[in-house]
Amino acid sequence: MSSGRVYTALGAEFQRIMSDIATNLQVVRERVAAAARAVGRDPAEVEILAVSKTWPASRLREAAAAGQRAFGENYVQEAEEKIAALADLGLEWHFIGPLQANKTRGVAERCAWVHSVDRLRIAQRLSAQRPPTLPPLQVCVQVNVSGEASKSGCSPAEAERLCTLVAALPALHLRGLMAIPEPTDNAVRQREQFAELRRLFTALRAGGLPLDTLSMGMSQDLEAAVAEGATLVRIGTAIFGERNR
Ligand SMILES: *Cc1c(COP(=O)(O)O)cnc(C)c1O
Repeated sequence: MSSGRVYTALGAEFQRIMSDIATNLQVVRERVAAAARAVGRDPAEVEILAVSKTWPASRLREAAAAGQRAFGENYVQEAEEKIAALADLGLEWHFIGPLQANKTRGVAERCAWVHSVDRLRIAQRLSAQRPPTLPPLQVCVQVNVSGEASKSGCSPAEAERLCTLVAALPALHLRGLMAIPEPTDNAVRQREQFAELRRLFTALRAGGLPLDTLSMGMSQDLEAAVAEGATLVRIGTAIFGERNR
């Protein structure tokens, strides 16, 4: 094959992936907007976080070219590599995975947000390790609304105390609550689980905690989450495709 034909073949493949991600992003934006309008909400109230775990930096670059600024990662080392590879783009990085105490430093130094704070010790370490030259780390407390033993998150009963303690840490800015409910195709059950997080959010605000972020909803259930008040949906598969890992 001549070098010209190789170039053309690569170019076509590149364009195919490009337009897939750009198209997928547009479909997700329209799903979010339709779900918001259906319940009388302004679509601009709902931010889309692109969940890019397992995907190479080149895919994220394509999403960025299509206008996506905020990316969510689940694994510290993988996040660090992509943050370095894409430093030229000025993206906003959210850590959304389970966080072990010995892995907090990389997140405190490199991310803008953490959605998965589920115990005080993690919050204390993030605050202590946040470089003073950076703005406070934006934090959500993760709550286990479905009560599955395997899922991380504090119990709904513990949330108020944990939020109050996190809000007092100097280098953290407590923004809200996050949940990953039990996956289900049942739209009624999806709404119930998100409604539980929304009621907790409303109660904590009424109690004086200045929360503005409800991080809930993924590719399969974003409509139910937006209907129940999500201000940030975390979308992986619907933007990047099925993950292999
Ligand atoms: C992987 C992941 C997502 C995205 O899930 P999709 O179903 O691919 O949209 C959202 N939130 C968290 C915490 C995740 O780990």
